[in-house]
Amino acid sequence: MSGCSRRQFLTGSALAALGGTLALAGCAPMSHEEAAAKKREAAAGNDKNADGEVTAIGTGMGKHGEFTVEVSAKDGAIDRITVLDSRETPGMGDVAMEKMTQAIIDNQTLAVDTISGATLTSMPFLTAVGSALDAMGESADDWKNREPAAWVSDVELPEEADVVVIGAGGAGFAAAITAANEGKSVVLMDKMGVFGGDTALSGGEMAVPGNWIQVTQGIEDSPENLVSDMLVGGDNKGDPELVAIIANGALDSANWLTYEGGVSWKHDLMQFGGHNIKRSIIPITHSGSEMTTKLTNRVNGMDDIVLIDNTKAVELVTDDAGAVTGVKVENPVTGDTSEVKCKAVVLATGGFGSNVDMRVKYNPEMDDKILSTDSVAAQGDGIVMAEKIGADTIDMEYIQTYPVCDPETGALLYVGDVRLENHGILVNREGDRFVQELDRRDVISNGIKNQTDGVAFLLFDQAAADETGLLKQHADEYENSEARGVIVKGDTLEDVAKPQGVDAAELQKTVEKWNQYCADGKDPDFGYSAEMNVIGDGPYYLMACKPAVHYTMGGLHITPEAEVLTVEGTPIAGLYAAGEVAGHKMGTNRLGSCSMTDIYTFGRIAGINAAGGDAEAKIPSLDI
Ligand code: ADP
Repeated sequence: MSGCSRRQFLTGSALAALGGTLALAGCAPMSHEEAAAKKREAAAGNDKNADGEVTAIGTGMGKHGEFTVEVSAKDGAIDRITVLDSRETPGMGDVAMEKMTQAIIDNQTLAVDTISGATLTSMPFLTAVGSALDAMGESADDWKNREPAAWVSDVELPEEADVVVIGAGGAGFAAAITAANEGKSVVLMDKMGVFGGDTALSGGEMAVPGNWIQVTQGIEDSPENLVSDMLVGGDNKGDPELVAIIANGALDSANWLTYEGGVSWKHDLMQFGGHNIKRSIIPITHSGSEMTTKLTNRVNGMDDIVLIDNTKAVELVTDDAGAVTGVKVENPVTGDTSEVKCKAVVLATGGFGSNVDMRVKYNPEMDDKILSTDSVAAQGDGIVMAEKIGADTIDMEYIQTYPVCDPETGALLYVGDVRLENHGILVNREGDRFVQELDRRDVISNGIKNQTDGVAFLLFDQAAADETGLLKQHADEYENSEARGVIVKGDTLEDVAKPQGVDAAELQKTVEKWNQYCADGKDPDFGYSAEMNVIGDGPYYLMACKPAVHYTMGGLHITPEAEVLTVEGTPIAGLYAAGEVAGHKMGTNRLGSCSMTDIYTFGRIAGINAAGGDAEAKIPSLDI
């Protein structure tokens, strides 16, 4: 649901009774300066205004740093909660705050359920509102002990639709929109309280051969070139037919995101490990949430799609012939169950990176000692549901770890993308390089696992920070990791090495050696594969990192038409799968930025075919 969607403005009975203005959180966040001014104003006193309304400020520490809320109450009842400044994930954190605002105001309680998928925003939001209540002379503790309440969607799940799409991440949005554009009625459901899945949490970079930026930069590329990189990058275990579809559909999918979705892009490219050329386009906010928030807006503007949250698919319903004819669902908040009848289902439920039991079942090495970058929703639900009606799985043992993740939380460290913009070196505790910084994710991850304490450190200089702009773009992550000592900034190499427990003298030698290699234009130790940039003057940054589970290459076995196959190798009528839930595209190892290309291409194929259209004609493959 969009930031300020039409549904959010429906007034509850309590709200009507209050007659107050409901200023929903996150609709128009203020600048930090404006927020500071508000804080000062509030600090001057919590005097009642002419209407007898009292206002106070509260703060919370969210997933992306501190945020501030302004709470107004009259006669002991909250009538307004406004988020003054927040850097929480668009489409997730801000939506959670809106929903909780509504639940708090409608029910006049702080015993409000957190919004699933945005717990790290929801909990501090309650704290922030509570501290504002305390500041205005109310007791937050009393408010927490009031009658419990939860935000419940007022969207009604239809009893019937032509197509049901399960999972509102990138693949699900693409499938739902294309199916609706084929003239069908669609239900797009997600089990979480917010939409976007791992797509929203990702950087959103997308491998697109022949894209407009390559053209202006004179970079020659082709879908065949991407096919070759993807197949080689996955040790030739991916299905060439599926890979050819992804590569050939890439540019069309990027254009679809631009024109159908309204997604904006940065004007430069990235080159991920295993790609032989710079070809990955980047959303303007450098986040997949740019895609999922825009696609949510698009869906909210389409009459033929019912988008509904807190709706978990638990079972696929089949007829006597084994064709899928419906989906049984459950509301995780209310416990209500129901069924939607349909002509076809698209599974777009993502991977199983957060399901440790499932990981270990297929790959015992991927146990709970390894953290994950994934959303808690990545539980493999679609795979399990489809298996129950006879679907085949493939490549399940291939589980990818991302090398540059927070050693404490498992979150992917986007500041570490300086590496992908050809800056920085990876060293171990001994201060030595041990791997080619642009090698495949699995190679770097395994390299890190074999170092002392299974940890590595990414070293870069101020020039890298300035040139890439990544510290500013990911200021929230940077501040948060610096506060916890995950990244250390210092004027000299010794200043950064010591707090990280890295051998400073050896680091100095490594940097001198690296700079000589840069001057020579060659890295005889590990064969650095792109333009080499020296580590120049300080300040320096040294960031600790560990691999965390990021992507599951295995999943449901599909045809080039996104049909789900049975163990016997025949398509299950009425069942399609797209995105991470479907396997055999990336082989043993997915190259960075190929997931976006996959989810939007196969998402659209699944949507068209589930609607009875002809995807092959609209999204043709390559002759390979
Ligand atoms: P992809 O990249 O393949 O699109 P994402 O991880 O972005 O995958 O999105 C998958 C979405 O599917 C998530 O938003 C997740 O909450 C949702 N999901 C997973 N299992 C279920 C389920 N059983 N019912 C409804 N939604 C689900």
